[in-house]
Amino acid sequence: MRPTDLRLPPAGNVRAVGLAAALMALALLVAGCGKDTRPNIVLITIDTLRPDHLTCYGYDKPTSPRMDAFAGGAVLFEHVCCQSSQTLPSHASILIGTNPRSHKVISHESFVDENTTTLAEMLKRRGYRTAAFISSHALDSKYGLDQGFDTYWEVHKQFTIPERQLHKVQEKSATTDAVLDWLGGTTGSEFFLWVHWFDPHRPYNPPPRYLREFAGGYTGTATSDADFIMKVWRERIDLTPQDVDHLTGRYDGEVAFTDVQVGRVLDDLAARGLLDNTIVVVTADHGEILYEHEYYFGHDIGLYDECIMIPLIMHVPGHGRPGARLNPLVQSLDIMPTLLEVLGIEAPDYLEGKSLLPLMGGTGEATVAFAFSETFPFPEKSPPRHAVRTADAKLLWKETRADTILKAYYDLLQDPGETANLYSDNFAPASRLDSVLARFVADGGLHPARIPTAQESGRLRILKSLGYID
Ligand SMILES: [Zn+2]
Repeated sequence: MRPTDLRLPPAGNVRAVGLAAALMALALLVAGCGKDTRPNIVLITIDTLRPDHLTCYGYDKPTSPRMDAFAGGAVLFEHVCCQSSQTLPSHASILIGTNPRSHKVISHESFVDENTTTLAEMLKRRGYRTAAFISSHALDSKYGLDQGFDTYWEVHKQFTIPERQLHKVQEKSATTDAVLDWLGGTTGSEFFLWVHWFDPHRPYNPPPRYLREFAGGYTGTATSDADFIMKVWRERIDLTPQDVDHLTGRYDGEVAFTDVQVGRVLDDLAARGLLDNTIVVVTADHGEILYEHEYYFGHDIGLYDECIMIPLIMHVPGHGRPGARLNPLVQSLDIMPTLLEVLGIEAPDYLEGKSLLPLMGGTGEATVAFAFSETFPFPEKSPPRHAVRTADAKLLWKETRADTILKAYYDLLQDPGETANLYSDNFAPASRLDSVLARFVADGGLHPARIPTAQESGRLRILKSLGYID
């Protein structure tokens, strides 16, 4: 067993919690939660979930009645940028609190360094019971995000079936069942529970009821299987509008199914009388291109808004007006500082986000002027991409195998679909963001902690089954 409580933070210093902070924590807890106990925390990350496919974010289909109702009693952030369009790096940013180039988990094949301190470790040191329920190989414990969790339940280790069949287990709600079992059997101190669902990720194979409701009546041949999707991408195959609608409907069916799972957990928390003293965060690791760009259904290669804008709905007892919708640009990086502030734990210096509590309390402005997102999909095949996003514009850098950089600037107010590249060296708004992104990319060399061999990780086989590589 690793000595998780003795590990040092990755950089900077964690200042000791002083008397003032302790008193503030006590005051917050008493005033905010109405009890003299610390709040529980439930962090829900739904893989591959686009906010604009949730009704509460304006979608015109009923994909999310449970999350809509939850948002009605919580605070919804309308513009949230994640730090990577890949599962492991983005989750690492949520749970470590820094950009991928700082925590160095930059791709599917990086590891969380054992000297890194995670949110789970910080809470465990303070007496929290910690449990994670994970629905994808991409977050396997071997990559290190299990640090600090007493329980790290992984769906793919519960069933001896091929990876390509794993979605059938997910359709049977295995992860949710395990979460509810844990909630029913756990007693003692406060808990930090992380629930990860994977269903909206390809392949889009929702249970029959949701398939009928959102994608029924289709007579074409398009499927969301990896082979078909990769063929469309590589060969630049034009799909018909009916094909695209069908695949999008399949995705929506997966979202709707996951919404039911969110509801099951919320219902259980409510039935146990825990919601008044439990922070609940619903968010995602990244979104999904649904054929809007690059002939693609997926996310690894893209830093368009459909990939890097995510939902964020937070229920923090005592903070924020229920039903509030906040417009300023915020980031995944802001989740961890927010939770730490609620608990009265001083944030380590190296965290790269800011607490959202001032915004929720109506006293704060945007937490960030420039949000960054990067992807390092497949080192040999697809060079890195980098993006800086402001409230109303974005600059993309796409590295090429010829060591050049293709640049694109989008005016998101005039062109939210990112269809017209306005980049030119003489265009001042683009040049300004160009300088900002150049400084960011130049900061901190990229030194992935350790790249496993294919034999070590079995990763290549898994990635192939998911359609990431061939
Ligand atoms: Zn993901």
